[in-house]
Amino acid sequence: MRKHLRLVALLIPMVLVASNSYAAVKAGSACSKVGSKSVSGGKSYTCVKSGKKLVWDKGVLVPVAKPKASASASAAPNEPAKPVTIADPELSPKSIYSDASMCQLKSSITTEADLGYQMDPMFLNSTGTVNLAIIYTTYTDAAGDDRAFAEYEKVQFPEVAKFYSNSSYGRLKITLTTNNKYYNINKPSASYNLEAMNETSRFSDVALDAVNAAKGDYDFSKIDAILVVMPSSAKTVDLGAMGVRINEGGKTFYQGITASYINPSDKRPVFPRFLVHEIGHNFGLIHPLPQQTRYGWDVMAWEENPGADLFGWEKYILKWIDPTQVNCLASIPNEPVTSFVEATGIASSNTKMNIVRLSESKALVIESRRKSAADELAPNEEGVLVYTIDVNLGSNRAPIKLFSNGKPVHTMPNGNRLLLGSLQEGESVSVEGMKVTVLKHGQSGDFISISKA
Ligand SMILES: [Zn+2]
Repeated sequence: MRKHLRLVALLIPMVLVASNSYAAVKAGSACSKVGSKSVSGGKSYTCVKSGKKLVWDKGVLVPVAKPKASASASAAPNEPAKPVTIADPELSPKSIYSDASMCQLKSSITTEADLGYQMDPMFLNSTGTVNLAIIYTTYTDAAGDDRAFAEYEKVQFPEVAKFYSNSSYGRLKITLTTNNKYYNINKPSASYNLEAMNETSRFSDVALDAVNAAKGDYDFSKIDAILVVMPSSAKTVDLGAMGVRINEGGKTFYQGITASYINPSDKRPVFPRFLVHEIGHNFGLIHPLPQQTRYGWDVMAWEENPGADLFGWEKYILKWIDPTQVNCLASIPNEPVTSFVEATGIASSNTKMNIVRLSESKALVIESRRKSAADELAPNEEGVLVYTIDVNLGSNRAPIKLFSNGKPVHTMPNGNRLLLGSLQEGESVSVEGMKVTVLKHGQSGDFISISKA
């Protein structure tokens, strides 16, 4: 009964808010208080003085985020929705942003992969269709592990197909060519010297031998990527993506992957997104965060993570986010800039990132994250990510550096996973002479401001 009374009490302000926001506000119609704002028909109107009268101005367009929806999304279960108090902030005009090319940083690294905007053509094409061939091999010192058939066909590949379709907004499709058959390589796996993990290790010969053994069955002219599944007992301490040079089917393969059912480095079955991570390397992605730190934001940072998507910057260089979806600032803005960034997990043509160019090789990136098909986030993990990208830093050297208020918001049951805090509504962080503030958390993204610190 008491609960019922509370509900009635809450209904009154809700009705007031509703009638306020749905009143027919029109440009030029009368209003009561200078500076007050009202949202109507997708526009935000401000009450201004016109002669002796107070009238609504012509209004500015506001993004699709719906205040009422965000209020109910953030309310705890079984609690009535609370009325919204924050109006959608007014956005800076698009004219303040520079041409997107100003924020398409190029790397000067030539000896290894990098996160520069220009992808080396040696890597797999990240749009269109990529056909992956899986080849199962055995060696004179290592018999096949039958569990690998189901693992790679029923777990790893479906996860790869689903992940890249979702993460790329349907721009990348991965198809599979395989057979449940072992190709017996007439030499010991130890002969590749994979356990040494140095320049004498010949991972690429593993791929070459597998391709030669399988070429009677596979049409390599129709294959783009090669995965060689080795026995779990193969003599190696690590497996994964590698550079190769194999001429077959009228083309040259520059990328390959070795794998097995049991991961040799930790003697456990491979993680469900093992192959998602390794194929990411074949597209030219690297480990964007320091390897000793475990974050949850990126499948390339930590493959044990069961549900991380990719950073917006990575989607940008993979050509899944278009230049038209980026608000590029050529330098630190003198006046505060307000914008709306839609969550990167949503397929649309809306703005996904704000980028502030800091130098030839460095920029600040602001993106929004919400739970999505590729991003298994808890509600308190959703929010704004603020990071710098330095395209002259290679793998494991933190080309992406996250900034936040430092709070770890997620720890895995085994204590392994620390997720550096995303920014919530009202929170801000100072980076590179700028202050980034989350003005409002909407259902589909965040209103943010960037100002000189
Ligand atoms: Zn890796």
